[in-house]
Amino acid sequence: MSIGHGDLRELYQEVIFDHNRSPRNFHKMDHADHVAEGHNPLCGDQLTLYVRLDGGVIADASFVGHGCAISTASASLMTEAVKGQTVEAVEALFRDFHALLTGVPPEGRDFGKLEVLAGVREFPVRVKCATLAWHTLHNAITGATDPAKTE
Ligand code: ZN
Repeated sequence: MSIGHGDLRELYQEVIFDHNRSPRNFHKMDHADHVAEGHNPLCGDQLTLYVRLDGGVIADASFVGHGCAISTASASLMTEAVKGQTVEAVEALFRDFHALLTGVPPEGRDFGKLEVLAGVREFPVRVKCATLAWHTLHNAITGATDPAKTE
């Protein structure tokens, strides 16, 4: 069975629409031990990211905020992808994900559902929407107190 490029693109868009319509882990977390704010002034995307760490592992992650479909879907997909992962693994995933959207992705990396966002590489402005949640997560787990900016 083969899947055409057009079909794949449609499938990717459907996943993004779905995560924008009903974002996963979209709630304030009362027991969070790391919280960070993110803002993408170029598009108006704004989010607050909540993380609970347990021995260097992301035990829980959630977010609230508002923004475009790409930023919301990306935050939703990210919270799903990072739960249960170590901080080191998540930082490495962020680096690779950023490379997927802006340059040459590392060979052999399985991005899972995050792959659906690869299409934004054709729209440089949208890259900031797709990486906002990741920048904010980075700040949250490294304890940076300034709001995450995509600039
Ligand atoms: Zn946006």
